[in-house]
Amino acid sequence: MMDLENDLAIGVDLGATSMYAAVVDVTTGARLGEAKSKTRADLGAEAVTARVTKAVKSAIKKSGAKRSQLVGVGVGVPGPVLTQQGVVISLTNMGESWDSFPLADQLTYGLGLPVTVDNDVNVGAVGEHRFGAGRGARDMIAMFVGTGLGGGIILNGRLHAGFRGSAGEVGHMILQAGGVLCGCGERGHAEAYASRTGIEKAINTAIAEGETSVIPELMEAEGRSILVSSVLDRAYEMGDAVTVAAIHAAQEYLGLLIASCVNLLDPEVIVVGGGMVERMGDAYLVPVREVAYQHFLNKNDMQSVRIVPAELGDASGAVGAAVLAYQRLG
Ligand SMILES: [Zn+2]
Repeated sequence: MMDLENDLAIGVDLGATSMYAAVVDVTTGARLGEAKSKTRADLGAEAVTARVTKAVKSAIKKSGAKRSQLVGVGVGVPGPVLTQQGVVISLTNMGESWDSFPLADQLTYGLGLPVTVDNDVNVGAVGEHRFGAGRGARDMIAMFVGTGLGGGIILNGRLHAGFRGSAGEVGHMILQAGGVLCGCGERGHAEAYASRTGIEKAINTAIAEGETSVIPELMEAEGRSILVSSVLDRAYEMGDAVTVAAIHAAQEYLGLLIASCVNLLDPEVIVVGGGMVERMGDAYLVPVREVAYQHFLNKNDMQSVRIVPAELGDASGAVGAAVLAYQRLG
């Protein structure tokens, strides 16, 4: 019997430390049942897959959804994926057991539902486009600024995957030939300047070069050997010159990156999410916008190109993964 009410899908945001699964009504964006759990990446891909299966089953149970209403499962993972096959290429933060791991097949086996897998920032972009800050836009670029800098591109209302499925890697656009070393091993990429890691590196370099900063003191007071977010926030609030300069530089580079992306694709909206923006809100984007607009080639009506904070916070990944599941499996 055909069930015309099957507009529910399950989205999973699988991170290196925690996972979040939600049953999502893809018409309204409402989350009807959810489950959170530790990833325990140390246990390896097979065991983590079993934990995802458990979380999905728990979310379905809490939602009260019937099997016939569920279109399938979408999963966002922190690394590159062969989307057609649902195979993870590698998850560098989660160990070698993920190399070429057939996650979609393994989950389908455990759940009896079709599964689609994509990169976490791509699913985040889809979530923000469908139900967040990019609602209603035809073309949109999402950027997530955290430890890294990831991006996803929506063209004509759909995720733009690219020829080999690797489009949207805005964090690895080259802003400075031969510049600062990036997490990927290359030099001068946007991520090396505009991410939180880039900010930390700039602060550490300034301190090593003898500039005065409250950071070493704050770290000692908190008993930290590495620069954590709370110390960074505190130093910024205190107006620490080194910290303020490093954050301003990151904002300027983000503005340059956005301008380059706008000059390439001319989208209606750039949605910026991730830890830095979640903590500081729109204030983080004020200087970013200023720099970006200065570097738009087409200055006609340029402020109509919106540069806005993401709206879904931590939920963008799971919601977007559910939307992708509906689009691909429905
Ligand atoms: Zn890079």
